[in-house]
Amino acid sequence: MKAKKRKILLLPRAMFQRRLLEWFRKHRRELPWRASRDPYRIWVAEVMLQQTRIAAVIPYYDRFLARFATVESLAQARPQEVLKFWAGLGYYSRARNLHASAKKIVDDHGGEFPRELDAALALPGIGRYTAAAVLSIAYDAPLAVLDGNVARVLARLGAVRGDLRAPRRWQHLSEAADRLLARHAASDWNQGLMELGEIICMPQNPRCTECPVAQACRAFALKLVAKIPAPRRKRAPVKIQIAAAILRDPSGRTLLVKDPGAHDGVLFSRMWQFPAVEVKSDAAAELRAHLLATLRVETPSLEPLATARHGVTFRHITLLPFLARVPQLPKQPRARIVPLNRFASLPVSSATRKIAAAAPGSAQ
Ligand code: SF4
Repeated sequence: MKAKKRKILLLPRAMFQRRLLEWFRKHRRELPWRASRDPYRIWVAEVMLQQTRIAAVIPYYDRFLARFATVESLAQARPQEVLKFWAGLGYYSRARNLHASAKKIVDDHGGEFPRELDAALALPGIGRYTAAAVLSIAYDAPLAVLDGNVARVLARLGAVRGDLRAPRRWQHLSEAADRLLARHAASDWNQGLMELGEIICMPQNPRCTECPVAQACRAFALKLVAKIPAPRRKRAPVKIQIAAAILRDPSGRTLLVKDPGAHDGVLFSRMWQFPAVEVKSDAAAELRAHLLATLRVETPSLEPLATARHGVTFRHITLLPFLARVPQLPKQPRARIVPLNRFASLPVSSATRKIAAAAPGSAQ
């Protein structure tokens, strides 16, 4: 005989739904993307919020929406301009996909974010979570969302132990999210669960005494809150050194390249960057050889500048900038010459900004 699945809640589902919805409608925070039900604005927010905290997203979001107020304006923009307004948020493939999706929405969907799940999933860079979030929040589509925040809340409610990202456990939580979904109010429901995870059922020190659904919560009843979710095993940090050359001509201009090497995908996100190389043993010698091989530039003197630290997930990166004064900058098809004192307006990654900050005469 098949074992009966344990119910996730200690309260009847309807009561649980009512309590969470009432709490959300009373306590919801005013966030810029909650000012309307415009799917475009909700979509941009959901993409920015992947990997980035709400407080950090808000200024970027406001600037982005001030420049690209509609999906049409985003679709028409030049890629470099989109990246410029994204610069600093990191994970630049998100901006590229957002831009590509905006074009598709304008070309194939008359400028309206698609209402069908399959059509939303066919847009570049949109996965199950983002599609469900946008469709439910904007259109009240009855689709449950499950991200790390919601998974933590559900795991505590049901006293689910172990690694939540383990495929079977995640599947179990996903099914629980579907069963609990308040189908008549999917927009408020999903936002309510996310909000609960953000401001009450936080990873550390959740505020159980203020929780509107504490009576439904098994972890609370069993005094297991501090043990759920189980801490994830972190990947061991990897130390990397990147040497970068700030070539500088007598007019204070420098050279940026699109370099497929030097951890391009992770560190510089395929954006304009200083010529750089991963250091094996001798930073200056390896950088000099790299400049000669890729740009045909001879740099007998490389002046070491202040180093900077940069972290990307498990990678602990030390940036080693070097200044090379050159009589003139080389002309290359995949290179760009820019004044160092106008760096602030360029679409570059934060690692490149840190390198530039070390150069005398740069402006950030
Ligand atoms: Fe989270 Fe505590 Fe509420 Fe349970 S009672 S859902 S652990 S805040």
